[in-house]
Amino acid sequence: MGFLGFIKGFSSVYRAKPRIRAYPSSCQHGHCHIQCRTFSHFKDHDDSVLPVLIVGAGPVGLVLSILLTKLGIKCSVLEKSKSFSHHPQAHFINNRSMEVFHKLDGLAEEIQRSQPPVDLWRKFVYCTSLTGPVLGSVDHMQPQDFEKVVSPVCVAHFSQYKLIRLLLKKLEDLNFLICKPEGLNDEPFRGGELLMGHECVKINATGQSVNVTASHLKEGKYTERNITCNILVGTDGAASTIRKLAGIELRGEKDLQKLVSVHFLSRDLGQYLLNERPGMLFFIFNTEAIGVLVAHDLKQGEFVLQMPFYPPQQSLDDFSPETCKQLILKLVGQELSDIDVIDIKPWVMHAEVAEKFVNCDNRIILAGDAAHRFPPAGGFGMNTGIQDAHNLAWKIAAFVKGIAPSSILHTYETERRPIAIFNTALSVQNFRAAMAVPTTLGLDPTVANSVHQTITDGIGSILPSGLQRAVLDGIFTIGRAQLSEFLLNEKNLLGSSRLAKLRHLFEEGKSLQLQFPAEDLGFRYLEGALIPDSDCVAQGPPTGRRRDYIPSSDPGSRLPHMNVRMLSNSFSEAFISTLDLLPGDKVEFLLIIAPLEKSYHLAVAALKVAEEFKVSVKVCILWPTDTVKGAETRSKTALAPWESYIDVAEAKKSSNSFSWWSMCQMTDKGAILVRPDEHIAWRAKSSIDDDPILEMKRVFSAILKV
Ligand SMILES: Cc1cc2nc3c(=O)[nH]c(=O)nc-3n(C[C@H](O)[C@H](O)[C@H](O)COP(=O)(O)OP(=O)(O)OC[C@H]3O[C@@H](n4cnc5c(N)ncnc54)[C@H](O)[C@@H]3O)c2cc1C
Repeated sequence: MGFLGFIKGFSSVYRAKPRIRAYPSSCQHGHCHIQCRTFSHFKDHDDSVLPVLIVGAGPVGLVLSILLTKLGIKCSVLEKSKSFSHHPQAHFINNRSMEVFHKLDGLAEEIQRSQPPVDLWRKFVYCTSLTGPVLGSVDHMQPQDFEKVVSPVCVAHFSQYKLIRLLLKKLEDLNFLICKPEGLNDEPFRGGELLMGHECVKINATGQSVNVTASHLKEGKYTERNITCNILVGTDGAASTIRKLAGIELRGEKDLQKLVSVHFLSRDLGQYLLNERPGMLFFIFNTEAIGVLVAHDLKQGEFVLQMPFYPPQQSLDDFSPETCKQLILKLVGQELSDIDVIDIKPWVMHAEVAEKFVNCDNRIILAGDAAHRFPPAGGFGMNTGIQDAHNLAWKIAAFVKGIAPSSILHTYETERRPIAIFNTALSVQNFRAAMAVPTTLGLDPTVANSVHQTITDGIGSILPSGLQRAVLDGIFTIGRAQLSEFLLNEKNLLGSSRLAKLRHLFEEGKSLQLQFPAEDLGFRYLEGALIPDSDCVAQGPPTGRRRDYIPSSDPGSRLPHMNVRMLSNSFSEAFISTLDLLPGDKVEFLLIIAPLEKSYHLAVAALKVAEEFKVSVKVCILWPTDTVKGAETRSKTALAPWESYIDVAEAKKSSNSFSWWSMCQMTDKGAILVRPDEHIAWRAKSSIDDDPILEMKRVFSAILKV
């Protein structure tokens, strides 16, 4: 963060259990013509070829391996580190990622139980020191954020390393083996292994497979091991080896800022903040130091301090644990005896997206930071990666199971790359919003960076390095003088005008925000494995200013959430979210209809065509709250002999809340087809008057690229 340049010394509750029985074993109907399709070119019986190899066991690689394993796809993971990092890094999990986690056997609920109470992290606090005057604070939670109206789950604040632990536990529950390099023999991988200490160093894509070479330390010597897979997914982070080996370039802005993260513990500081001014982020500005403190867990006293890093004038040695401790004390504003510096890590902020997400005839795929790297402002990095994995998993499964050709994998790039570009722009915009506060305080954040640039590359570069450093230090000290008590107070004309502007900035919501539901839940794919409406309008550049999410049934949107009541005898009291109607352990589409004659005809056509396409479809008959009598008999008769359906009734919050169809801005004569990743693949705004079989064939072949 630019303004840091002035620092001292530069310095499921509701799991769907629908009453679904098996499909009829063979089609007994006149018009059903079964074709045998085989898209999967690899030999399932060939044990020497692994269907999917994932490189990188960060949050994105782990989520992808869980999703694939749940879908019945064999995969293994290579991780170059021998153990997992404890550096907290990401901590904000947005609403859509929590929805993905909700389907991972209640992971979202586990996170909600384990995270700090929301009152301890709902605010960003701006102050001159942690124990000194508060310049302002912004509460980022609103009452509707807790009401679960737009989503069955809420956002969360949970450190990345704790999330990794829970993800590993989920993988172990799915019988994944987490292997140390020493414990391995030379058997081919069968899927279901996470190999620690294995670094991917070489790849070679042949006709239908990819040969991967991993290097690992065995008996004190680096040894290579070869693995052949059908699909290789690089989730190996911002410096991705797979991206480089596949020759994929990044596009965008590099090196926006270099920073150092200091991970430290102090129970005393945690207790003090917990009692006096709880918050998630603390932006601290004083004459001696400036920094951003991330409170990962106030009860445990776990923090990360972000500070600027100006190489080559500075080196990492300038951030010794003792120097960091002194800087922390300057930001705290009083003595603390229990500061324990755990880890000091440099990192670079970029705003870049890979020019391709899929390469080598759809066999090499990038996801997460390997595909995009952007400023952490707004917390979109890991979240975007988790949603990449969610988009990709069902497509890989559809290909491996022979439901779709490999071109379905290309739709991952068509859909996710524009989202990555959009989120990059949004993160840069959020980063600029974060800069508005120091700018208002008289610390123009661009100055620090241009001064550094001039000294490094411009006229200052002729100076000896010690002098370069002294010049930089001197200029930053002058900059921080803007924050002196003498200047920054209500009695000083300039100070009071700056403080008034600051208050205005906070009230107008023009400082850094935490929540972006309009983008987090409202993102939409415009083309890919879907059929856009003829009047589909492209999304404009991000504004970051609209906080509200507006439910939409436009193709490519996430299915809107509404609680529904299942109308089967055994579960009559069970409420589930519409999002829970998709199972998560099967490549299954969902067709939502109202109980109307023509819609039932469409549903029967969808079931017949799905059988022909060898893909699973479930029909959901959505009954209005007050007309559910006889629902089950009606659906059974209309859909017989098909049994892959579920009757549900709307569970409206109040009598004046929107009905399902009006929330979707449609009438009940229409229908919505939802993909396994809960995004809308197709919709009919009104009843289908032409041959529904032909229409459903058109729909499934366009979606599955058949
Ligand atoms: C200070 C900070 C705060 C952040 N806060 C947030 C936030 O609040 N919310 C959010 O969404 N995001 C946040 N982010 C971003 C987030 O941390 C990253 O987006 C996230 O870690 C990306 O996950 P990943 O799995 O794609 O990559 P990584 O987490 O980088 O994992 C990649 C893995 O691949 C391994 N690997 C690398 N190369 C190889 C190889 N050749 N062979 C085998 N293994 C390899 C690495 O060891 C690593 O384990 C933040 C980032 C920073 C720096």
